Amino acid sequence: MRNRFKHFLFSGLEYGQVNALARRTRKRSLLIITYHSVLPYSKKFESFDYRNCVSTENFKKQLIFLKRKYHVISLKEAEERLRDNKLSGYECVVSFDDGFRNNYSYALPLLKEMELSAVFYVTTSFIGRQDMLWTEKVNAILLNAEVSKVSIHLDGLQTISLANNDERENASVKVRTYLKYKPRHVQESILRELVDETGYEPHLVENDPERYAFMSWDEVREMKKAGMEIGSHTRNHYLLNMLSEEESYRELKGSKEVLEKELGQACTLFSYPNGAEGNFLPHHFRQLKELGYSSAVTQIPGVNHPGQNMYALYRINISARMDMAVFKSYLAGTQKLLTL
Ligand SMILES: [Zn+2]
Repeated sequence: MRNRFKHFLFSGLEYGQVNALARRTRKRSLLIITYHSVLPYSKKFESFDYRNCVSTENFKKQLIFLKRKYHVISLKEAEERLRDNKLSGYECVVSFDDGFRNNYSYALPLLKEMELSAVFYVTTSFIGRQDMLWTEKVNAILLNAEVSKVSIHLDGLQTISLANNDERENASVKVRTYLKYKPRHVQESILRELVDETGYEPHLVENDPERYAFMSWDEVREMKKAGMEIGSHTRNHYLLNMLSEEESYRELKGSKEVLEKELGQACTLFSYPNGAEGNFLPHHFRQLKELGYSSAVTQIPGVNHPGQNMYALYRINISARMDMAVFKSYLAGTQKLLTL
């Protein structure tokens, strides 16, 4: 869909009261929205690796809208209302995944200014370290390496063209999708192959700390002190479905223990890495419950009704390319009417 045409259609939903009507049909449900990064707008927002970043300006507009049309509550409060079938109408929880420092630098001040709370799910082994997720390393190499093609072993040797931006983005999606469902040693060996083949070492944290640096434990503690909820996003951001039962148990338990030690409070909230259908399995519900987690959020789009499995809550992801019309439509669920 062309951008202007898309904007026109989405605006139509708002001005034609379609969103307002749809919001009403979702009144007795819990909406949870997902952010990853909030930072000042720059040209980089046009690039693929900023797709999950929201500008401070848009974030503020979105919070103003949420405050006007929804009741933003804590996840703890939302859990109780869902469990006891006591949703009073238009409840919304704001959540953040991963634990980037920009959450502390840019999202926190705006949340405080608007007197809103949010839940921050942090990947504990990255807190206080200059490292980044392997998916971002793969992405950085394929988008930035100064080569026009690369040959790597994805089920046999394959040569992937990197001649222009579209090809680079496609390559990044292809390689990351392939690796997502491979064991860790395969992910690591392909990553090494990519570095060797291209001669590009992804030093993204140093080059672009606003986007890639993770919070320190002191910053996480300050978030907590400011009234934010802190949950676990595992220790290492491995997809749980790729781990043995023993390994996933260690990820869930280890992250909980370190959060409890560092923050001096119980950690009962969890968010699945990637969080799509298939990234979590029934035995993870059992493990989470056994360890004392009270809920887990996915990245499966939707809203939550009483009776919902508390270990598979739906969320709506907010991305860089959503203007206000698109944002409002996704919250109301009317974007489905525009599947062009
Ligand atoms: Zn994540």
